Parts: sequence; C-alpha cells; structure tokens
Amino acid sequence: MLPFALKKLVFYAYKRGMMKMFGCVFCQVAAHEKPAKILYEDAHCLVLQDINPKAPVHLLVIPRKHITSLNENLENDKALLGHLLIVAARLAKEQGIDGTGYRTVINTNAEAGQTVFHLHIHILGGRILHWPPG
Ligand code: AMP
Ligand code: ZN
Repeated sequence: MLPFALKKLVFYAYKRGMMKMFGCVFCQVAAHEKPAKILYEDAHCLVLQDINPKAPVHLLVIPRKHITSLNENLENDKALLGHLLIVAARLAKEQGIDGTGYRTVINTNAEAGQTVFHLHIHILGGRILHWPPG
C-alpha cells in the first residue's frame, strides 16, 4: 500500500498531466526531446511536418497541452482550439496552398484512424484531395 502522502503526490502529478505526458510522442516533440521538422511554434502550439506525409504538404498543428482527443471535456479550451485553427490557416497560406485548397482533419479514436493520442490537426494540400475520404 502506498502511503497517503505518496498517493496524493501521484494524483497531483496525474492532474497536472505529467503522467499523461509520459511516453507521448507529441509531448516529447513539443518539449524538444524528440527531433522533428518544426515550422512554427508559439506559447500554445507548434506546427511540424508529418513524418509520413500523405500529400505534398502534410503538416500537423499540435497544442503544447496534452489533450488526448476531441472526446475530452474541452469547455475550458475554447480559445486554444480556435487558436489552433487560426494557426493552421496561417501555415496553409505560408505553404501557398490556401488558393488551390487544403484539408484540415482531426481523427478521433481508432475507427477514424487516430494513432497518436495527443490532439492534432492535419493540414493536407498540394494535390487534389478526393471526397469522401477513405
Ligand atoms: P493520426 O493517425 O491522426 O493520429 O495522425 C498521427 C500522425 O502523426 C500520422 O500522420 C503520423 O505520420 C504522424 N507522426 C507520428 N509520429 C511523428 C513524429 N515523430 N513526427 C512527425 N509526425 C509524426
Ligand atoms: Zn501529449
């Protein structure tokens, strides 16, 4: 049995997201503990090139905060979510795909194809993207 003080410490660490962060690839990228091609970063998010691109332009917008997916309670993160979309549009423009068109995608859970359980927005462009997606 863990002593009460230790239990409290573990609970506090969990609430602060430290245990969720442990082993999360995008938390490691955000902390510069794992190499990535980072195109943009600010206090709230960063934008990196996808390691396995599905289009000539394939970027990921990731919040610094560890959020597992859109299924979390995000009532207190409305400003952050809006910021991620605004940054996505800015990067699409910088990449020169705003005029031709681009797709922003958030996959949520297994059947949608989510493989990294740290919220991220895909930006895909530079080719014709068919609809509906597979
Ligand atoms: P999803 O399948 O929607 O969860 O998207 C995860 C994306 O992250 C995939 O497109 C992966 O290719 C990409 N990815 C995984 N690890 C890395 C990494 N270390 N750096 C950049 N992109 C990554
Ligand atoms: Zn994370």
